[in-house]
Amino acid sequence: MSVPNGSPTEFQEYRDGVRSWLKANAPASMPSAAELIPAAKAFQAALFDAGYAGITWPKDVGGQGLSPAYQQVYSDEAAAYELPVYPFIIGMGMCGPTVNDLGTDEQRTGYLPRLLRGEDIWCQLFSEPGAGSDVASLQTRAVLDGDTWVVNGQKVWTTNAQWADFGALLARTDPDRPKHSGLTMFVLDMHAPGVTVRPLKDMSGRAPFNEVYFDDVRIPVDAVLGQVNGGWNAAVTMLGHERVSIGATRKPKTNPMEFASLVELARDHGVTGDPAQRERLAELYADERVLDLFNVRMRQETMAGNPPGARGSVAKLAGALLLRKAIETAGQIAGSDTIAWEPDDARGAGLALGINSAPASSIAGGTNEVQHNIIGERILGLPKEPQVDRDIPFRELKVGTQRG
Ligand SMILES: Cc1cc2nc3c(=O)[nH]c(=O)nc-3n(C[C@H](O)[C@H](O)[C@H](O)COP(=O)(O)OP(=O)(O)OC[C@H]3O[C@@H](n4cnc5c(N)ncnc54)[C@H](O)[C@@H]3O)c2cc1C
Repeated sequence: MSVPNGSPTEFQEYRDGVRSWLKANAPASMPSAAELIPAAKAFQAALFDAGYAGITWPKDVGGQGLSPAYQQVYSDEAAAYELPVYPFIIGMGMCGPTVNDLGTDEQRTGYLPRLLRGEDIWCQLFSEPGAGSDVASLQTRAVLDGDTWVVNGQKVWTTNAQWADFGALLARTDPDRPKHSGLTMFVLDMHAPGVTVRPLKDMSGRAPFNEVYFDDVRIPVDAVLGQVNGGWNAAVTMLGHERVSIGATRKPKTNPMEFASLVELARDHGVTGDPAQRERLAELYADERVLDLFNVRMRQETMAGNPPGARGSVAKLAGALLLRKAIETAGQIAGSDTIAWEPDDARGAGLALGINSAPASSIAGGTNEVQHNIIGERILGLPKEPQVDRDIPFRELKVGTQRG
């Protein structure tokens, strides 16, 4: 990979530093579920102390102020390890960058250094039972009462809410405006009275996400992120960060759905000589490389002052399609071993978990169909979907519980 700034020697030194730091500090194995949060917080704090947290974030919030090429070097090296960073993915990938873009100086310097040091976990409170793809139809209400907003409503599918200290909450502040223009984004203290978090299990049997209820939750006025009734702009900003972050997230090489693991699986099943399996694996390798290079290019363009916008949807969609192809390949190689394994076979269990979890990537962060729409409209210039409800006051729309 060519580096767009800094000398090759500088980058090699940086890579050597990252490599030896990870070798000395990466945990030998993933912590148990009970140990995950303390281990994740300790690792994030160590990353911060070593200067590898917020590599591209501004220095005034505790970041390193380096170009994305350095982030790329770190990500390349970190992919060799399974690191306990999952609790921070929403904060680091989505909420933090949005606070940095839209927050006041107090918000930026108040929240972001704590996030980088691993002190706070964040979640994203957008989706509701009646508002997922069409998130602008959400019904959670925030009503101004003196110097606080009072929030009532429900969110769903909230990843990591069970651990979160803060949430980026999208709520309706003016139902007399059309649906996109009456929303506001808030920073919500997840420990505030009236916030209830209940786990939701997915088909893998784990509970990675939650439902979150708000009963007269009070939020101070200075917790508005961006403008009152400007929440749609804030949401689009965050969704842009989300898609780039999902598309660019490198799975560790040990992940059962990564090329290297699938080649090992093929070896163990004695099918590396089978032309059909070889072709599948070669195709997967090519797709993985293309996506990697696409992500490198997006980072370089961002650095040159041309953020990817709708191209984040291409990365997000490509990542989801790649994962689907990886599942099919695993199924072709291992057959029934992907759904039944001996109790002491950790790899078999990991494979089944990978297969059961993978379909979520076609839904989380906006479904594949929604990404197709964005790419069609904003990149290919195809006609927009008809939006008959765009200019009608929200309270007149037949959506969610307003259907009657
Ligand atoms: C693992 C996981 C983690 C998640 N984490 C979070 C989180 O942390 N915070 C959060 O707020 N949300 C989260 N979500 C929710 C996610 O954003 C929504 O599930 C997603 O946006 C889809 O919304 P929905 O489930 O309501 O489906 P719906 O919007 O009801 O869609 C149902 C089907 O209709 C299709 N469809 C809908 N509209 C269109 C259209 N205009 N054109 C074509 N097809 C369409 C969809 O593609 C889908 O197939 C998570 C979801 C998953 C699976």
